[in-house]
Amino acid sequence: LRIGIDAGGTLTKIAARRPDGQFRFLKFPSADAGRIVAWLAAEAPGAALAFTGGKAGNLQALASDRMPADAAHMRAAVTVPEFDATCAGARWLLGRDERNLDSFLLTNVGTGTSIHYVTPDGHERVGGTGVGGGTILGLAALLGGIGAGLRSGGGDSAVAEAGLAEKLDYAGLVALARKGDRARVDLKVSHIYAGVTPPIPGDLTASNFGHVANQTEPIGLADALASVIGLVGETVTTVSVHAARELGTADIVYIGSTFLGNTLLAEIVNRYTKLRGGRPYVLPDGEYSGAVGALLAL
Ligand code: ATP
Ligand code: MG
Repeated sequence: LRIGIDAGGTLTKIAARRPDGQFRFLKFPSADAGRIVAWLAAEAPGAALAFTGGKAGNLQALASDRMPADAAHMRAAVTVPEFDATCAGARWLLGRDERNLDSFLLTNVGTGTSIHYVTPDGHERVGGTGVGGGTILGLAALLGGIGAGLRSGGGDSAVAEAGLAEKLDYAGLVALARKGDRARVDLKVSHIYAGVTPPIPGDLTASNFGHVANQTEPIGLADALASVIGLVGETVTTVSVHAARELGTADIVYIGSTFLGNTLLAEIVNRYTKLRGGRPYVLPDGEYSGAVGALLAL
């Protein structure tokens, strides 16, 4: 058994490959280190291990501490630099999909967003933005009043429905956003150029959240969350398209757990990338790129 572990800022992704070549993918909240160590204690003995990600060192140290019998084994595990692992894993997952690309831009929408140019000779980090999956969780919390009114007893049925009141449940948040409508939140180019032909596509967002100040009726949480996902999708797309253009490639591969179950984000990224002249591909299982890449180093 070979196991690749990508301990990220928010989620720890694990790829395990049996000798018959079959893969198993699992994820845990990185904050739940106890559960990760328990999983390792059950599965890791005798397995070849490779760690990657920003929290790899912490996790490895904790595992060595709590698993005395396997401490030496834990410490002997391979550590793979995060960007090497991510780029190698993404290329492998693309190959599995028969989408082999020589050179492409790789946009990893994790807690934050990191952009890489991957070529047959290697990879380089070409940019990034602090707007990422953590932005969705953070703005959802602010908009839903997490940590403020809700805890002190205030109730909002939309928030309760999204499961935001107790804990940020990503699936609930994404489902609520899916029902939202951005029309009264975001200002489009066509709003500004009302009645005349704009110099750029009217469907482009002129100002994320820029239409809120023009409204007289309150905006519901679902609509606001749809626009949060719009903000993140359009920002990561814009930064990616600019980088791709500079590098002379059109292919942009998107990965990261932010796309998990988030068809709204995938649609926005696909549509916006095409609108800007790029060729998008939201890679299935892309959030496991780092874990797969780490495993491939074994
Ligand atoms: P980084 O690479 O920046 O260190 P990471 O590897 O932990 O972070 P990902 O796992 O790729 O990042 O993505 C994290 C994002 O995925 C979160 O910010 C959130 O938007 C989204 N997400 C999806 N599912 C969950 C979940 N169950 N719990 C928390 N966040 C989730
Ligand atoms: Mg990551």
